[in-house]
Amino acid sequence: MLKRVIAFFLVVIVVFGVFPRLISWADYLKKEPAYQFVVDGEVWFTVADDKALQEMIDEYQRQFLANVDPDAIVKKISFVQDVQVLPVEVRKDQFDPLEYAREKIYAVENEAVEITIKRGDNFWNLARTYNMTVADLEILNPDVDPHRIYPGDKLVISPFNPVLDVLIELENTVVETVPFAIQYQKNNNMFTHEKQIIRPGVEGEKEVVYHITLRNGYQDTLEAIKETVLKEPTNAIVRVGTRTTVARGGRVNFGVVQGKRISSGYGWRIHPITGQRRFHDGLDIAANHGNPVYAYTDGRVVEAGWNGGYGNCILIDHGNGLKTRYAHLSRIDVRVGQKVKVGQRIGAVGSTGNSTGPHLHFEVIKNGKTQNPLNYL
Ligand SMILES: [Zn+2]
Repeated sequence: MLKRVIAFFLVVIVVFGVFPRLISWADYLKKEPAYQFVVDGEVWFTVADDKALQEMIDEYQRQFLANVDPDAIVKKISFVQDVQVLPVEVRKDQFDPLEYAREKIYAVENEAVEITIKRGDNFWNLARTYNMTVADLEILNPDVDPHRIYPGDKLVISPFNPVLDVLIELENTVVETVPFAIQYQKNNNMFTHEKQIIRPGVEGEKEVVYHITLRNGYQDTLEAIKETVLKEPTNAIVRVGTRTTVARGGRVNFGVVQGKRISSGYGWRIHPITGQRRFHDGLDIAANHGNPVYAYTDGRVVEAGWNGGYGNCILIDHGNGLKTRYAHLSRIDVRVGQKVKVGQRIGAVGSTGNSTGPHLHFEVIKNGKTQNPLNYL
């Protein structure tokens, strides 16, 4: 009898006590499909929803395309780190919530450091102050035109640096101008500095394909991989007096200054990454700081002094609706109202105002409209 009772209770214990627990243990130990986010071999988190994770990664990477020309072709997007999404099977309690995944993916190492432009600041002296190059500063601020910055504007001097670095490969096709050359015809009957435009030059057009890599949205490399001329330039033909003009004892004589090269031409430019169009209303001639600047031709000084982005600037009225402007000077040697002669020293090359280095910004204004100075030099 006792044995029967014991056996009965044993059955009861097994059926109502142990068995359900075994079932819940089995349930607890059961593994479900999940996705592990692995960075350089280290598991960052595990989530159940693969689609939501992919969307999150995609959204994170695409934020770095915010300032890119919408017409650019995205070739490849990848992480600098070795990132893998691995299918696994784990217990339910080992799943991480999506918000946690988002926090990890969007983690930031350093926020971008910005400075506020003060009067007298320009790309050149700011680059010196922060121990970087003008090119670095331009890369960090692709949407800023160095020739158009004003007090109160913000400039990035140290990039936004996330924990997960994103590399983007782009291809962008832009139309650029092809500068024209000037053919000189020498004429014995003409005096010093006299010149006559026989045929004005016309810039050509070319299509340039750039291959660009961005790291966290900032330019890493930029390379022109293909150029197709759409329209050949028409060279200018200028008749000059043989008696002097050329050579004032330096490398290239531009008449108004002894320079190294033209660092920026006149006209529209398209930024290869942002696709933004900018107009440059003068000719930038890179030259040594302190090089003398000469009057283009006879005239009267109508402006001489500080003029915002132009820095120290001179404007000369030559009559017949023709004016010339000389900007970013380190020195001004004339005053308003003064009459000047062709070739007279009026100031010196500098980098004042909105400048990216010592150069002369030379502008030609005919009847109130700027002209391509190459047709006048
Ligand atoms: Zn300029």
